[in-house]
Amino acid sequence: MRTSIATVCLSGGLVQKMYAAAEAGFDAIEIFEPDLIAAPQSPEEIRALASRLGLTLDLYQPFRDAEGVDEAAFGDVLHRAEAKFRLMQRLGMDLMLVCSNVGTATVDDDEVSAGQLRRLSDLAATYGIRLAYEALAWGRFVDDYRRSWRIVELADHPNVGICLDSFHILSRGHDPKQIEDIPAEKIFFLQLADAPALSMDVLSWSRHHRLFPGEGSFDLPAFLGHVLRAGYDGPLSLEVFNDTFRQTDPVRTARQAQRSLRWLADRTAELLGEEAGPLPRLPEVTAPEAFDFVEIKAADTSGVEVLLEQLGFDFGGRHRSKQVRLWTWGSARVVCNDVPSASPEPHIAAVGFDVADSDPAAERAARLMAPPVHRRTYAGEQALRAFTSPDGTEVFLSHAEDWIGEFDGGVSRPDGNAARIDHVNLVQPWHSFDEAVLFYTSVLSLTPQPTQEVAGPAGLVRSQVMSSPAGGVRLPLNLLPNGQQGQAQHFALACRDIIEVVAAARERGLRPLKVPGNYYDDLVARFGLADDLVATLRDLDLLYDRDADGEYLHCYTETVGEVFFELVERRDRYDGYGAGNAPVRLVSQAG
Ligand code: MG
Ligand code: MG
Repeated sequence: MRTSIATVCLSGGLVQKMYAAAEAGFDAIEIFEPDLIAAPQSPEEIRALASRLGLTLDLYQPFRDAEGVDEAAFGDVLHRAEAKFRLMQRLGMDLMLVCSNVGTATVDDDEVSAGQLRRLSDLAATYGIRLAYEALAWGRFVDDYRRSWRIVELADHPNVGICLDSFHILSRGHDPKQIEDIPAEKIFFLQLADAPALSMDVLSWSRHHRLFPGEGSFDLPAFLGHVLRAGYDGPLSLEVFNDTFRQTDPVRTARQAQRSLRWLADRTAELLGEEAGPLPRLPEVTAPEAFDFVEIKAADTSGVEVLLEQLGFDFGGRHRSKQVRLWTWGSARVVCNDVPSASPEPHIAAVGFDVADSDPAAERAARLMAPPVHRRTYAGEQALRAFTSPDGTEVFLSHAEDWIGEFDGGVSRPDGNAARIDHVNLVQPWHSFDEAVLFYTSVLSLTPQPTQEVAGPAGLVRSQVMSSPAGGVRLPLNLLPNGQQGQAQHFALACRDIIEVVAAARERGLRPLKVPGNYYDDLVARFGLADDLVATLRDLDLLYDRDADGEYLHCYTETVGEVFFELVERRDRYDGYGAGNAPVRLVSQAG
């Protein structure tokens, strides 16, 4: 599988982009014309650098407004094209993208467009150059790959073929299955991009919101499956216009891009089975169905330990060689790690995911270029496999039975309310949100759920839940409004009877986050709850939600450093997170 990336995906100057692409293991790049024009290097220098870096220059793009024009205008097109063909010769390139006419087309006639592409191809052929014709989703007359293919067929010239771009096809809802009817030798190039489900004009959607495969909601494995079934064996090339990626470190973005292609190849191979040919597979892992532990780190975590005790956790012992203490409650395990050099505020530093066999999971993470975490281990201790997620939180692939013996035993009170970790909510910096979605999709095989937005006192909070198939692992990723960094993370403990748990916790001194009286008046209006239930909720500062699947009772602790806890009780098959209550929590926390 040859991998390629358009220079438009990355920030920086052309040379920087080329180094980043090479470093991330790409075989080729598409040169986006404005990047070349702005580069201080000559075409010959760019060509030489590419060869030193082991990159081939696979596509020069884009050449606009070529076809469907009147005869006088077409003379100008040929003149313009010839200058580009000469430039491409200096670069040592032989494939140019011609996108369907947006600006100057006046003739809506396939025969005319085909005739003009044929004449352009004749000229290209004298320079040894081929043309890949792409239907833009917003082309004046040609906005559908089936029509661009008809025109290429009519042009009937060995130097013109088609370029398929997943965005232009899937954003319009065009059926990609008919790609299989195009002869392989006529598919000159393939561009891949994902995108979030948005309802907006397709041009703005494309220019600002494209994503790498696995980060959005297009079915790219199915799309690529059709292209490969057609017999295409050229490079898989990413063309992603995205406002965030243009502002972030190109080396990191290029790795993210390469990860997306490795994931996509694996998913497509799975889909195609025997037909997949040489697509590389990843070691298979099933998504974890439980959290193994959460680690809280700080110079001093004692404030968190007070809270854990009040909630109902038991002290589970000290680690035999590190300043680490374990707290347990049912299957919920929290590790408090005092590190003098750590950020002084308690924060969620690591999350352990329970994987029965960590070897293939770790091998898969490494193949996806997840950066490994190295922690010191001593003789007889389990070396846990861990990787750094995009927001810096360490992700452990672990299994409590393997490491729990390293703690001297603590006490465990029998408790009918034995808790488990229901969800871990990680706040994401703006620049790594999409990368995080891909990370958890590809490395842990979690599935992204539809995004939600909730109103906070200082702006909208976007939330994307990543979850395992049976819901044992739920990982809401929250993106905060601009400029709000360092907001608290939290994790939620599910218990059988939250009213009993909170009443007992209050006896031990717990003070849940205060809920305003207006909230309970509204509850009565919204749900028509019985008076005594509302009185209990009000008394305990419990929040409530209900939908067709069941009910959700929950409450929050106060924040210690950068972390707080949530207690939840899910009734029946309730599957949400009380999103309607989030504004109340956000205002209460801000006040
Ligand atoms: Mg394209
Ligand atoms: Mg929550």
